[in-house]
Amino acid sequence: LSKMLSDPSLLATQAYLAGDWVEADTGARFDVTNPATGEVLETVPDMGRAETARAIEAARIAQKDWAARTAKDRAQLLRRWFDLMMANQEDLAIILTAEMGKPLTEARGEIAYGASFIEWFAEEGKRVYGETIPGHAPDKRIMVQKQPIGVVGSITPWNFPNAMIARKAAPALAAGCGFVARPASETPLSALAMAVLADRAGLPKGLLSVIPSNDAAGIGKEFCENPTVRKLTFTGSTQVGRILLAQAAPQVMKCSMELGGNAPFIVFDDADLDAAVEGAIMCKFRNNGQTCVCANRIYVQDGVYDAFAEKLAAAVAKMTVGNGMEEGTDLGPLISDKAVAKVEAHIADATAKGGQITLGGARMGNEGTFFEPTIVTGATRDMAFSTDETFGPLAPLFRFKDEEEVIALANNTIFGLASYFYAKDLSRVYKVAEALEYGIVGVNTGIISTEVAPFGGVKQSGLGREGSRHGIEDFMELKYICLSV
Ligand code: ADP
Repeated sequence: LSKMLSDPSLLATQAYLAGDWVEADTGARFDVTNPATGEVLETVPDMGRAETARAIEAARIAQKDWAARTAKDRAQLLRRWFDLMMANQEDLAIILTAEMGKPLTEARGEIAYGASFIEWFAEEGKRVYGETIPGHAPDKRIMVQKQPIGVVGSITPWNFPNAMIARKAAPALAAGCGFVARPASETPLSALAMAVLADRAGLPKGLLSVIPSNDAAGIGKEFCENPTVRKLTFTGSTQVGRILLAQAAPQVMKCSMELGGNAPFIVFDDADLDAAVEGAIMCKFRNNGQTCVCANRIYVQDGVYDAFAEKLAAAVAKMTVGNGMEEGTDLGPLISDKAVAKVEAHIADATAKGGQITLGGARMGNEGTFFEPTIVTGATRDMAFSTDETFGPLAPLFRFKDEEEVIALANNTIFGLASYFYAKDLSRVYKVAEALEYGIVGVNTGIISTEVAPFGGVKQSGLGREGSRHGIEDFMELKYICLSV
């Protein structure tokens, strides 16, 4: 892998703890593999709780000085980090594709997307305004300040190895917090490469640590039980989110949770069908279906069902599956055999209940975890994917009759992250957008992610928002100062 990089020093294979590059106390390391080939790319240190505690302590010390600096000073350092990420976009993308599998074009996009949060929050950090409130008595003056919450622990998944960390670290650091990141064990190299650049940008020693570990549960416990950590920020499954919330409860720790989704994608009969097909493809098959905002259930109104199914199949049939490093690849491998097994299980369940596979349906090749993009028609609410996120390249098409029915179907889930619909009638657009119980609604678009808007879910999809001016609030506390004059 290092031979492919124009700057091989970005390929860091030690942990970044308190400003130093170190091994685990035990000396243990674990493998990072390429899902396209199954080959071991590198090994990285398998850090434990003791090392995590040291990272937390270093962050506590560094954070005091960091918080005391001006926002402009912090912004300048973050801006340098952003510039370095963009200057090294290609190398970062290559590392990302190697360990995670997504096509290189998507990886380049992810680096730019991740970096955009650093740029945005560097700017936004200067605009963390407090308020003055008219007093409740003649002698009282009331002032409200926003202060950084302190040390933040972060746990992130493998599907966006760069952006998930950037989205959390940027607002935390801009707010004046210290940050300890435990990247997913599948994708530590992207996180460590970000640390190389943060270090180069001049971030103070100890403020940021990146600790790879195979022991997610142990690190999670350290974050929740160490009294210095005042905030936990997590992206991953609802199942693990619940565990972490329960673990964080005894310390009454502030938590941000970006959890699972089960996104509905609704095509009404007045939709522009070609645009809907294009949106469905971007929304369903980006990252090979492995995002928490990917369409999981596609609802198509009776009158346009057959036409939409036909157009979608024709477009999906043109997609190329292959190694993400090769130009022209639309769909890379899935992250693991387990991920393939889940797609297979959802397909088997659907066909046993009367669904028809109209495209794809099978694993591909002798190596790697490649899967054909798949369409199932005749999907019904008793099938597994109507309640469970597939996280793979499977598009089930459900048929519906009217607005009321589809809103009820779309909302009939414990999740509430992203939702999408295509329609032209203005009154319908307003009514449906307001009725969908989701944190995010894409109308006539399949792509909703941007640093300038608040990303996050309702119901069991999470707590808090990332991005936008709201994203920094989750890393701050309000202090009300009451002055008697
Ligand atoms: P995914 O299916 O995206 O891997 P998970 O919720 O299983 O979703 O994983 C998200 C992140 O949480 C990963 O980095 C994983 O290693 C970590 N994780 C898994 N179990 C725990 C746990 N009990 N405590 C803390 N982190 C965990």
